[in-house]
Amino acid sequence: MRVIVIGAGLGGLCLAQGLRRAGIDVAVYERDAGVTARFQGFRIGLAEQGLAALRGCLPEELHPLVEATLGDLTGPARAVDPWLRPLSEHPMAGVIAADRHVLRHILLAGLDDDALRFGKELTTYHVRSDGRVEARFADGTSDTADLLVGADGINSAVRARLAPAVRPHDTGVRFVIGRTPLTDRFAGLVPGFGTRVVAQDVSMLLGLMRFRRSPREAAAELVPGLSLPGTADYLRWAMLLPPGRTPEPAPGRDGAQQTVLARTEGWHPELRAVVEAADPDNSTLLSIRVVRPGPRWPLGPVTLLGDAIHATSPSGGNGANTALRDADLLRTLLLDAHAGRRTLPDAVDAYERRMLRYGAEAVEHSLAALVPFLPPTDRTAAVVAAAGGVRHTSPQSQP
Ligand SMILES: Cc1cc2nc3c(=O)[nH]c(=O)nc-3n(C[C@H](O)[C@H](O)[C@H](O)COP(=O)(O)OP(=O)(O)OC[C@H]3O[C@@H](n4cnc5c(N)ncnc54)[C@H](O)[C@@H]3O)c2cc1C
Repeated sequence: MRVIVIGAGLGGLCLAQGLRRAGIDVAVYERDAGVTARFQGFRIGLAEQGLAALRGCLPEELHPLVEATLGDLTGPARAVDPWLRPLSEHPMAGVIAADRHVLRHILLAGLDDDALRFGKELTTYHVRSDGRVEARFADGTSDTADLLVGADGINSAVRARLAPAVRPHDTGVRFVIGRTPLTDRFAGLVPGFGTRVVAQDVSMLLGLMRFRRSPREAAAELVPGLSLPGTADYLRWAMLLPPGRTPEPAPGRDGAQQTVLARTEGWHPELRAVVEAADPDNSTLLSIRVVRPGPRWPLGPVTLLGDAIHATSPSGGNGANTALRDADLLRTLLLDAHAGRRTLPDAVDAYERRMLRYGAEAVEHSLAALVPFLPPTDRTAAVVAAAGGVRHTSPQSQP
């Protein structure tokens, strides 16, 4: 069996690792020129399900490195006002921090030039009369496999061909995210799981990425030959801006920071100092868009995984977890097919039935989690925008 994965994000790489570990022929094609081609360096929260998927897919020799490069989140989550006066506290558990950029490097480990090719943009695919699928790339080349997996993110080219009615919807909410080198001074702003600054029409979230061990040092000791980024501990800050009230991003390299500083005049100086001290190369303005899975497509040698079919709002903290879950589920089912315990179409069918159901739930959960961050007048607008014209989701149609 040969599998082509489009997209070397967290989901696509996790699947590729799992298939490779099981001896299945897999090739990943990634549009970016390299792993550092774009801003990707934000912190994500991983729940047990995402961690279990990583353990299921990655070779065992990489497990200690994953563990060593996580960050513990302990204590209650707290809310404060813009002058750092406490508003509330509630207990939190079950989530651990990971740096997406570092994790992606671990997921690349051992994928040689045959298994992973950068600078390869899928333009379309063609299902051949023999049932195999041919992926076609912008550089005029093509490759053929028994299964093509679109793990190509929210603007998925695979989805555009396979399920054209399913499209991203913009909630109208904007998200300015950045990171600031962690110092003792700034660490005091996040004494527990995380700190949410609640202002009249915006929220700002502060969280720590404090690696259990320096990723570079841990790799040198635990997996000699694997080079990880020298990312140091940081404080991740993120401001949610309600629909229609996002200023034009300030020009210049520090535009994201300036956008937030313009919204925090009069706030406690320590909060402004965090933003002022941020690393501009890892700070950016993002749109919050979602993909709600739509009606199911005809079963065939092409399927979808991760944000390509169920992109969530970052407020849910579940997009990566769900993409990793997809990878582990599809891996397990493809292993069955590889071993002759079921056919390939049967494996894809079982995957899509389950993935579409929990994927749709993940998107709804993330939208529900977005609502409390918005001023009451903006809540309906954002959720209606996210619903787009295509509110129908597949779970009801899945027996
Ligand atoms: C600020 C922020 C915070 C987040 N926090 C969390 C969190 O705490 N917890 C959590 O679980 N999730 C979180 N998420 C969501 C999570 O990052 C995503 O859901 C996850 O990365 C999706 O992985 P993926 O592999 O499906 O897609 P992606 O990571 O988007 O990867 C898709 C890849 O496909 C490539 N590609 C695209 N088109 C093509 C093409 N035509 N040909 C070839 N390659 C192509 C892209 O270059 C990209 O590398 C957060 C997201 C953001 C933005």
